[in-house]
Amino acid sequence: MKEMLIQTIKNLFSKPETVNYPAEPSPTPPGYRGLIVYDESLCIFCTKCEIVCPPGAIRFVYTDEGEKKYNYNPYLCIYCGECVRACPKAGVLVQVEETAPPEVSLPDWDSIEREADESKKRFLSRKKKSLNPSKKRTSQ
Ligand code: SF4
Ligand code: SF4
Repeated sequence: MKEMLIQTIKNLFSKPETVNYPAEPSPTPPGYRGLIVYDESLCIFCTKCEIVCPPGAIRFVYTDEGEKKYNYNPYLCIYCGECVRACPKAGVLVQVEETAPPEVSLPDWDSIEREADESKKRFLSRKKKSLNPSKKRTSQ
């Protein structure tokens, strides 16, 4: 009983073990697998990262010329690190020990996903036609 009373008094004056989140940021444990940082200058645009990403947090949008533009949604990302493991070029994708900031406005991700799907279809269709020009002529 006496020990319990002492412990209760100690607890009353000790610093709480919990964090007052979100008023205070939650401390990140060392070695935490956080956000993905991308370096476009090293990328070979193989899209392996997009293929392996479980929640679809990486999407490439194709231009009419067939160039690909990387898009990343830190709020969809589950920080699994699969994209980093799949990337054949060292240093293009790096996983840092930071979580997504609580309030950042992203471009409309639904539109990006739609554009990624449609632009890829357009690109593949153009590529198919350029590889089989005779097929196009015979079907007309
Ligand atoms: S860490 Fe995982 S979820 Fe996040 S972008 Fe890479 S593969 Fe996708
Ligand atoms: S896997 Fe690496 S090299 Fe390939 S597109 Fe993704 S970031 Fe670029």
